[in-house]
Amino acid sequence: MSEEEYDLIVIGGGPGGSTAASFVAMAGHRVLLLEREWFPRHQIGESLLPVTIHGICRMLGVDGEIERANFMRKHGGTFRWGKSQEPWTFSFANTWMLSGQGLDYAFQVERSRFDEILLRNAGRKGVDVREGHTVIDTLREAGRTVGVRFVDAAGKERRARAPFVIDAGGHQSKLHQYAGERVFAKFFQNIALYGYFEHGKRMPSPDEGNILCAAFDEGWFWYIPLSPTLTSVGAVVSKEQHAETFKQGYERAFQSFVDACPLIKEYLDGARRVTEGPYGIFRVRKDYSYCNTQFWAPGLLLVGDAACFIDPVFSSGVHLTTYAALLGARTVNTVLRGTLDAHTCMTEFETRYRNEYAAFYDFLVGFYDMLQDEKSYFWSARKVLGTNEADQEAFVRLVAGGATAAEDFLEMSGAKREFLKEYVTSRTRQETAEEFFARYSNTSFDAKSFTRNLRRGRAEVLAQATQGEARTEDPPLRDGGLVPSRDGFHWVAPPKKGT
Ligand code: FAD
Repeated sequence: MSEEEYDLIVIGGGPGGSTAASFVAMAGHRVLLLEREWFPRHQIGESLLPVTIHGICRMLGVDGEIERANFMRKHGGTFRWGKSQEPWTFSFANTWMLSGQGLDYAFQVERSRFDEILLRNAGRKGVDVREGHTVIDTLREAGRTVGVRFVDAAGKERRARAPFVIDAGGHQSKLHQYAGERVFAKFFQNIALYGYFEHGKRMPSPDEGNILCAAFDEGWFWYIPLSPTLTSVGAVVSKEQHAETFKQGYERAFQSFVDACPLIKEYLDGARRVTEGPYGIFRVRKDYSYCNTQFWAPGLLLVGDAACFIDPVFSSGVHLTTYAALLGARTVNTVLRGTLDAHTCMTEFETRYRNEYAAFYDFLVGFYDMLQDEKSYFWSARKVLGTNEADQEAFVRLVAGGATAAEDFLEMSGAKREFLKEYVTSRTRQETAEEFFARYSNTSFDAKSFTRNLRRGRAEVLAQATQGEARTEDPPLRDGGLVPSRDGFHWVAPPKKGT
């Protein structure tokens, strides 16, 4: 069997795969991308963050195309969450990183169109993009991944070789087993049921494009306006508690959740469910909150949902996958150029990626904890530890059964947990960072370094996209760590202090 040769093979043409492939091709390398579907294809994950639009899309050179695509503009998020029954809104304009620079918005996107823009762009950047091609396994020699076996569009099995394979095959990918173990988070063990509606209500301007998240006793809803008339609506509920509800069929289960959530019931009053085309069915996603114990193995990198995902509430998925794609591309580009060794670069990839994941994870745990006084099963099961021992035992029982990210949370200091709750509340109050720290200066926990980490990955990507080589030097994340090169697409050792 003949084997084609490349510098990099990418599995999957979602945002993670097409971003990684483009950044490596832009550095002059030969890249093959294999995608099993024909685009456009359906995907969930429609609410994006500014860093994806103004950072990654700008670096990819598709920001103009995205602006012209008529996606719904999103200025922030509106939440019926926490103890107050009144919805409150946070705006990207209240974030120092984005305000005053024209970066204070993102888009709600139909993923079929957004993902296709990124994939076609990869082709224009020189990536050999092949749709209808399914990877069935990797090729491995002496413990190293050296290529892939795949079935082409004509059904014929083929092989291709490369010094690096990036698995961006999403949540269904099985290749994570070659890099470690996929550990499911008990804390976020939910199920999402979603459909699409025409003519649902809109929030008043300028918030008509915001994501609306509405908590109710059994979980929470997302309500994402995709156009002036089309809305994506999803219920996130406890998988364990609702097994029986789902047996009644998706339509009835969905309606019972709507009936239990007055705000969403009001927004859908008079709306018509889409019943034809790709939006015409109810869909379910479960078992989506997990993290691999390792994000790389010799010759193999995991990017995006192939590696980890947390929870839909703060629109982190597309950011995490495209950010990991940038980190992975820097790693591959640097080793191919021969300036640093693979182990050092892979370690940098893993450290930065895990840091970004952990920042979102902690933030989301704090955000869910805002509902800690609720008596319902869904929220009490997610209740973060109070000081009282009985509560702790109850929580431990709920998360019992193996090493989970939730158990890491049990080890958090009380000060950090308190800080997280305060921080989340502060974001929702639209306080400035200075006001927040003035109010919250008395803590034994290193709050400033926590918030620095929370913003760090996003700030770095935005600086690279908007200021290019003129940006200030990024400090290493840790002693002995690497920093991005001036062009942003490689790793280099940081300059020695005083030089
Ligand atoms: P994907 O988008 O899954 O792309 C993977 C691609 O790989 C697919 O096209 C697939 O066909 C292809 N593939 C798979 N296996 C193979 C193979 N063997 N050979 C070839 N090709 C293969 N994120 C947000 O940012 N905002 C949100 O609002 C949001 N909401 C969400 C709601 C829910 C309920 C869930 C579960 C997730 C949500 N996400 C959200 C997360 C988001 O969907 C994902 O994080 C994102 O799609 C990951 O992108 P990816 O490129 O890693 O993978």
